[in-house]
Amino acid sequence: MEKPLRIGVLAVQGNFREHAAVLRRLGAEPVEVRLPEQLEGLDGLILPGGESTAITRLMRLYGLDEALRRFPAPVFGTCAGMIILDRDHLGLADVAVERNAFGRQVRSFEADLDVGMGEPVRAVFIRAPWIEDAGPDVEILAEVDGHPVLARQGRVLVAAFHPELTDDTRIHELFLNQVREAMSVRA
Ligand code: GLN
Repeated sequence: MEKPLRIGVLAVQGNFREHAAVLRRLGAEPVEVRLPEQLEGLDGLILPGGESTAITRLMRLYGLDEALRRFPAPVFGTCAGMIILDRDHLGLADVAVERNAFGRQVRSFEADLDVGMGEPVRAVFIRAPWIEDAGPDVEILAEVDGHPVLARQGRVLVAAFHPELTDDTRIHELFLNQVREAMSVRA
């Protein structure tokens, strides 16, 4: 049997437990990350949704921001996690992200996304951002009303919604496939 993938989940604030549960369901081993040394040896990392201002502040406090910039394996940011990966924050994804883009008030909705995986993916948006601008290496994988909400740039995957809040595990599987690809390139 193949060794389980060890996937870190940034666990300073937000939906890290839900992501860990999905990873476990898919046979991966989730590792809660609060300190820079916990990033060592991970096969991939998820930055969960939550409150990007709080997560940014806590990351700085724990010295995680510098360590994350140097993290070499695939990274998946959802919602606030997507904001944290953008040009204005960690700069791991060449995107400009608009916070709370779907409305200024608390605005939540669900939408069926065509991700090119057969059946559409039901996506939960909670005060979600969208991608306002993307560099040439960014591949847009899904949009809502013409606004990109799922994108990939090399080893970095970003989603404006919350794939950890539905029973559909296909977006996490997409990320785990990215992780396996990166491992076979390094091997
Ligand atoms: N609105 C939040 C922010 O700007 C993100 C919302 C979420 O992660 N669900 O950080």
